[in-house]
Amino acid sequence: MRVEFLGGVRTVTGSATLLEKGSLKWLVDCGMFQGGKELEKRNWKIQPYRAKDLSFILLTHAHIDHSGLIPKLVKEGFQGKVICTKATLDLCEVMLQDSGHIQEMEAEWQNRKGKRAGKGEAIPLYTAKDAEKSLRYFQPVAYGEIVQLAEGVKARFQDAGHILGSAIIEIWVQEGAGEKKIIFSGDLGNFDQPIVRDPSIIEEGDVLWLESTYGDRFHKSREETVQELLKIVQEAISHRAKVVIPAFAVERTQDIVYTLGQAIRSGTLPLIPVYIDSPLAISATEIFKKNSDCFDQETQDILSGGENPLEIPGIRYTRTTEESKAINEDTRPGIIVSASGMCDSGRIQHHLKHHLWREESHIVIIGYQAEGTLGRRIVDGATTVKLFGEQIAVKARIHTLGGFSAHADQKGLLNWVSHLRNPRLEVFVNHGEEKISLGLSQLVSARFHFKTSVPQWREKRPLFIDVEKEVPDEEVKRAFLPEEPLSVLLNRLDRTYKRLRRKLKREKKRGEDVDRQRWWRQVGEIHQKLEELEKEIE
Ligand SMILES: [Zn+2]
Ligand SMILES: [Zn+2]
Repeated sequence: MRVEFLGGVRTVTGSATLLEKGSLKWLVDCGMFQGGKELEKRNWKIQPYRAKDLSFILLTHAHIDHSGLIPKLVKEGFQGKVICTKATLDLCEVMLQDSGHIQEMEAEWQNRKGKRAGKGEAIPLYTAKDAEKSLRYFQPVAYGEIVQLAEGVKARFQDAGHILGSAIIEIWVQEGAGEKKIIFSGDLGNFDQPIVRDPSIIEEGDVLWLESTYGDRFHKSREETVQELLKIVQEAISHRAKVVIPAFAVERTQDIVYTLGQAIRSGTLPLIPVYIDSPLAISATEIFKKNSDCFDQETQDILSGGENPLEIPGIRYTRTTEESKAINEDTRPGIIVSASGMCDSGRIQHHLKHHLWREESHIVIIGYQAEGTLGRRIVDGATTVKLFGEQIAVKARIHTLGGFSAHADQKGLLNWVSHLRNPRLEVFVNHGEEKISLGLSQLVSARFHFKTSVPQWREKRPLFIDVEKEVPDEEVKRAFLPEEPLSVLLNRLDRTYKRLRRKLKREKKRGEDVDRQRWWRQVGEIHQKLEELEKEIE
């Protein structure tokens, strides 16, 4: 088998891994890169995915950094199945279309700006319509069910405890006379969080992809974190101020609602307005309610007691822009929860513009803030930030509460890994900033003596080259030659072009019946690709 690391390596976003077994090719995750222009350029370099050749995509969960390029892949000719849990499919339905909208809006904005600068037309990565079309390729599977994917390849989705529908994926492949098992941790959640079930324990496996988002961090306990949040809210109430919480529309928002609900119901917090100002979060909350079979026992118990943990006294879900604007006219102390979670887009930006400069306001960061995002700049202590072309002073109190994270911390990750028994397990550490992945890789290697590494973007590697068979190094090297320099590839392209012209001339002379229509179309496609190449070289 062979593997190519297409994303989510030495960075947190863009998760995607290409697996090849003979002529069978498939992806695990197909995520979008987010956080800065340089990184996001990779979203356009989709050719290495070879969409038409892929038989299926196994999707760990609905977050855009795992699912966000699926519509683009479908646009590029992907015809296979996207296999995921039912809740993931439900969430993708709203999240991918939302992502398509954002892409369209960004292209529109670029074009308005670009026209004035005399630049060419920007096109969206994909549209909401493309996203909708891509949904028909999705095929839901149940947790725990073993699915036969192809001759000699089967998979099983297990609880990852990260967001609704999230999964650890186990893949079994027939290798020679035996069977090998690959595990993708996906994004791993914490053990004691509300709503979703805890991550499943996995004991057997030969190769593991291990996420490392918080591989260097220790979260405070949930109880401590909740107390901290309640203290902030109480302080805001006493100063008649607002608490602004940027939150990912899925899971973090519902988690906060759940937590505030318990505090308000028990009387720890007085009845105050809680605004959930994110259409995506509202749709996601509806999907949560529809998929209550994914809830943990504690949440199930609340439900069967006749209460809805996602409906709390004083909560207002605001869908329209008018409703959203009206929030700023409410002078009472209260809480505003809005997306996007990393503050890079969406309504949260309006609330930040309204509150960052006010000393009495509180901004509570509860989720991961990737490098290059506005949220990260705020956490890192920026004194001013730019919003809608305006410099805004950061005077509000900024709080970071790690305990609400949807990702396990170092202790949680190591604890989960500790259950794996195969002493010859190979571990690829991914989904983390470079330094953090490298650190966790060393730690796992030192503690469990597994063979660990942190792959590079676009790196290709063989899998299951049996050490016992002692395949000579030379042979491995020959099978996986290093990539040729760009100049060599371009020269080859130039030679191919000349050969094509000669051949075309010869065929025309011979009066052979060439399929002009097809040639025309094919040349058109190549032309487009060359233009993209040109843009990239610029
Ligand atoms: Zn995630
Ligand atoms: Zn992720």
